[in-house]
Amino acid sequence: MRKKVIEFRNVSFRYGDEQPWVLRNCTFEIYEKEWIAIIGHNGSGKSTIAKLLNGLLSPQEGEIIIDGQQVNQDTIWNIRKDVGMVFQNPDNQFVGTTVQDDVAFGMENRGFVREEMIKRIDETLSAVGMQDYLLTEPHRLSGGQKQRVAIASVLAISPQVLILDEATAMLDPKGRKEIMQTVSDVQEKNDLTLITITHDLHEVVQAERVIVMNNGEIWDEALPREIFSKKEALRKIGLDVPFVAILADELKEVGIKITQEPLN
Ligand code: ADP
Repeated sequence: MRKKVIEFRNVSFRYGDEQPWVLRNCTFEIYEKEWIAIIGHNGSGKSTIAKLLNGLLSPQEGEIIIDGQQVNQDTIWNIRKDVGMVFQNPDNQFVGTTVQDDVAFGMENRGFVREEMIKRIDETLSAVGMQDYLLTEPHRLSGGQKQRVAIASVLAISPQVLILDEATAMLDPKGRKEIMQTVSDVQEKNDLTLITITHDLHEVVQAERVIVMNNGEIWDEALPREIFSKKEALRKIGLDVPFVAILADELKEVGIKITQEPLN
C-alpha cells in the first residue's frame, strides 16, 4: 500500500475571528508519488490550502499531518524541508542575482557544503532544461524560464512534496505546456508527490486524482475522467471543461499522451 504523505482532517480556516470561514471541514489524503490536482474557481480556497500545507497559516479547527507529523510551530521547519512550493508570480521568488545564485540560496540556508551545491545546481538546472543559463540575471529570463528556475531551486533541496500554486497562470500557452512537461518529467525522475493547484481544467488531465473545491468545501474528489463527465455541474460552480481536455483524457486511455492544450 502507498504511504500517506499528507492528511487534512476536518480542517476549517478563516483569516481572522470576524472573517468568514474560507475552508470548511476539509478532509483529504494524498499518497507518496501521487499527482493531485486541486481545482476550483477563484476564491474557492485553493491557495489557502497551499499556505496551510507550508505552515504559512494554521487552521483554527482540525489537523494537518505531513509525513506522520502534525503541522505546528515545533514541526514546521522540519516539514518545510519536505515541502517545496512554486507560486504564480516568478518575479516574487527570486533572491539571487544570477540563476545559479538563486538555486544555491535554499541550499546555503540549509548548510549544504559547496561541492554538493555545485553538483545539485548542475543536476537541477539540467532537469528543467536551464543548464545554459547559470550566470544569467533572472530578470532577463522569460516567464516560463523563470518558473523553470524556481522549480530547480525547489528541487535542489530534495523535497518529498512539490506544490505548484497557479504556477503557469502568468504564462502563454506554449510556456504553460513546457512547464507542465517539465513538471511531469521531474515528478517521474524524482518520485515526487506533486500537487498542482489551478483554476484551469486543461491542467488536470495528467493528474491521477482531482480535488474540486467550491466555496471552501471539497465538492468532489475523483479521477480526471470522472470529473470531466460532470460538465454541467462543473459549469454551475464556475468551471468550464474544455473539449481538448476531454479529448486528451480519451487519448490517454488508449495510451497516447498529450500534455495539454494541443489546439490552443
Ligand atoms: P483561491 O486560491 O481558490 O483563489 P484563496 O485561498 O486565495 O482562493 O481565497 C479563499 C478566500 O479567502 C477568498 O474569499 C479570499 O478573498 C479570502 N482571502 C484570501 N487571502 C486573504 C487574506 N489574506 N485576508 C482575508 N481574506 C483572504
